[in-house]
Amino acid sequence: MIYIKTDAEIEKMKLAGKITAAVFDAVEPHIKPGISTAELDKIAYKTIVEAGAKPAFLGYGEPPFPGTACISLNDEVVHGIPSEKRILADGDIVSVDVGAVIDGFYGDACRTFTCGNVSDEAKDLIRTCEDSFWLAIREARIGNRIGDISATVQEFVESKGYGIVRELTGHGIGRHLHEDPDLLNYGRRGRGARLVKGMCLALEPMITQGSYDIKLLSDQWTISTRDGKLSAHYENSFAILEDGPYILTCPGFERPLAADFKQPKSYSDR
Ligand code: MG
Repeated sequence: MIYIKTDAEIEKMKLAGKITAAVFDAVEPHIKPGISTAELDKIAYKTIVEAGAKPAFLGYGEPPFPGTACISLNDEVVHGIPSEKRILADGDIVSVDVGAVIDGFYGDACRTFTCGNVSDEAKDLIRTCEDSFWLAIREARIGNRIGDISATVQEFVESKGYGIVRELTGHGIGRHLHEDPDLLNYGRRGRGARLVKGMCLALEPMITQGSYDIKLLSDQWTISTRDGKLSAHYENSFAILEDGPYILTCPGFERPLAADFKQPKSYSDR
């Protein structure tokens, strides 16, 4: 069942989204060779708690996720567990996926950062992942269908020669971290639920340099590419409003259909 949000509920989601996004600004200056993923996770925790919110992922699922953020390096696609033993090295790509809940409503977003000197190939992967989001979000308008968003991600990513992970998808979001409907990163135009005002969703392309096949590691959380090639992930939560999508987790870039809109500077190039 798809829960449609009222204007008042969307206001609450804006706050959850802003707090979620604040984590990226807080961790970005620390993404350097030598820091552990556990240290980055502590910064994420502090940012969320000091804003009066709760980390959405901490204790989630089975076995309970032990971190505030999922921090996934290189060939890891999603759900990397923060660890004191996991030290960033020059050339790593680092996805930080994080959620916050405040006043009963959730935000969920992800960025893939670069650590030190990253190859041009890895940068292109990160940029393509971001670009697929910002292209597909333009389809998130009243009257379109879920499949219009999904197909746009797929067509763009595959045109660049990359794979799209199939088993993991975006989702509805609101009073729960994961709500109906699923928001796939592949599909067909004109299919799926029709988009209506008040729908809140998270679109999160996960793309790969090689095959899109994935595997679950022995820690029961981390998912990596099966062929060991790199993966990038980018995510924002958004609401469908009368006049187009409103990005909840990217302050300053809320209205992507505005005539003067320019997408944020790529994390591949900061
Ligand atoms: Mg998500």
